[in-house]
Amino acid sequence: MKISHENKSHTNVDTSTNSNLSYQPKTQPVRVGPITLGDGSFSVIAGPCSIESHEQFLQTARWVKQQGAVLLRGGVWKLRTSAHTFQGLGQEAFGFIKEVLNETGMKLITEITDPRQIEILDDHVEMYQVGSRNMHNYALLKELGQSRKPVMLKRGFAAYVDEWIKAAEYICVGGNSQVVLCERGIRTFETVTRNTLDLNSVLYVKQHTPFPVIIDPSHAIGMREFVPQLAYAAAAVGVDGLIVEVHPNPSVALSDARQALTFNDFEILMQKTKKILAATEQPLTKLGYTQ
Ligand code: PEP
Ligand code: MN
Repeated sequence: MKISHENKSHTNVDTSTNSNLSYQPKTQPVRVGPITLGDGSFSVIAGPCSIESHEQFLQTARWVKQQGAVLLRGGVWKLRTSAHTFQGLGQEAFGFIKEVLNETGMKLITEITDPRQIEILDDHVEMYQVGSRNMHNYALLKELGQSRKPVMLKRGFAAYVDEWIKAAEYICVGGNSQVVLCERGIRTFETVTRNTLDLNSVLYVKQHTPFPVIIDPSHAIGMREFVPQLAYAAAAVGVDGLIVEVHPNPSVALSDARQALTFNDFEILMQKTKKILAATEQPLTKLGYTQ
């Protein structure tokens, strides 16, 4: 698959002379277990940044499902900026992940950080996540091109939209066109928030690629108190869903504590998101909705 979006200059695209900008591919829906991303509905994916323990993962899975999340997130291997911080439970997490999924009926999306992890992950995940730091990892993208599972490709924190789309094509040329794009904020000159959510990119890729598009407000802003507002922006802007971090007790979270929503925060987020979706006439994806 070649995406002919042709953003040649990266900046100041002149819409009056660039006829390629009228190219409007229809979103190709991507089936992920019991739901379909890109079918016109809005899907909420939620869970902890890292899977920390059986209890933490189970409690979070139960809560987010009860509030309306349709897929469960949770990191097994974490790519951390510092080598001295928690790197994820790794192998140990597989001792209880299946139990949590079976008990709650949730399907898992987790980050793959190395092509060698496919063998063990394939049996546990419904969808692979490629993290921001790995968007340019072409060996990983090629490996996922051979997979039959859908892939959520996060935008590199310093990647042009054009590079992001081309990274998606790496997966597609291998034979796997089940790609979902996730905007998670980019690095700009601004430092008061963790990143800067680029809603412009979301509008662009939604119109100029066939991929479903979701937003990650947690990593975009990095501050719990503002995560819900960015989630409402995601609901208002007309994308296919969002992915958000939730923790039973953020004060003891082993990664991304500052941005984790409490259970109560998540409940409020879901209630208000439903109101925004009602205003924009976009249905919330429900488990069983597309079955
Ligand atoms: C994550 O989802 O926990 C994560 C590490 O995200 P990103 O790759 O966007 O930094
Ligand atoms: Mn995180």
